[in-house]
Amino acid sequence: MGKVYLTGAGPGDIDLLTVKALRIIKKADVIIYDRLANPLILKEARNGCKFVYVGKEDSHHTLPQEEINRLLYQNALKHECVVRLKGGDPLVFGRGGEEGIFLRERGIDFEFIPGITSAIAVPEYAGIPVTHRGVTVSFRVVTGHESKNKEHSQIPWQNYKTDDTIVFLMGLHRLDKIAAKLIEIGKPKDYPVAVISRGTTPDEKTVTGTLENIYEKAKDLPTPALIVVGAVVKLREQLNWFEKED
Ligand code: SAH
Repeated sequence: MGKVYLTGAGPGDIDLLTVKALRIIKKADVIIYDRLANPLILKEARNGCKFVYVGKEDSHHTLPQEEINRLLYQNALKHECVVRLKGGDPLVFGRGGEEGIFLRERGIDFEFIPGITSAIAVPEYAGIPVTHRGVTVSFRVVTGHESKNKEHSQIPWQNYKTDDTIVFLMGLHRLDKIAAKLIEIGKPKDYPVAVISRGTTPDEKTVTGTLENIYEKAKDLPTPALIVVGAVVKLREQLNWFEKED
């Protein structure tokens, strides 16, 4: 019986993979990977390593989570070293916890290998620090995705009245609703917002604006994309370093 490594692939830039993740990828018998894991990472695997794509188009899963769990289990019965490779960090909206519980219940050993999460690294590549002395002392990472069959919002909007930086993952398709909701709970219409698309890759593109105009400016950006709300967005004017000026 083998072991499953629930591994973070980092946010996109292949150089943001950890040394520990790379070491285990080189040893893997099988790599089960998501759409958000940079496929160039697979080139690091040894000859004969098997690849299984279980892609996720944001939250529209290609393979239902139950089947991914079963696939991990079946592979662990057959192989020594099973790598489950996920974008960013496996436990930041990565469902790595569910996979760990499923494996534990079946007596399969696992390890988490943390990855650099897009929630911090993508704003960073856009020149937006998630905290900054004198600007904000905390940040939140929130899912922008809401389950379609739930009548009420699962997001506790009333908690978001503070000046915390808010990073929304999986939220581009609801950008208009998110911006409207933040105005509704009392944030100024000219509150700074950035949308960053394909962060940390050569295709990275950032659009900045306000709660009032960000939807019109950013709605057509390609995914994956995340939304940063807060005064820290203004720091991009001084800290932009990665994207070339148009
Ligand atoms: N576990 C991942 C997040 C999974 S949720 C992590 O820690 O990064 C998937 C969401 O992450 C996407 O919908 C998008 O909002 C964000 N995301 C992931 N990679 C991104 C990238 N390179 N650029 C912008 N957003 C990204």
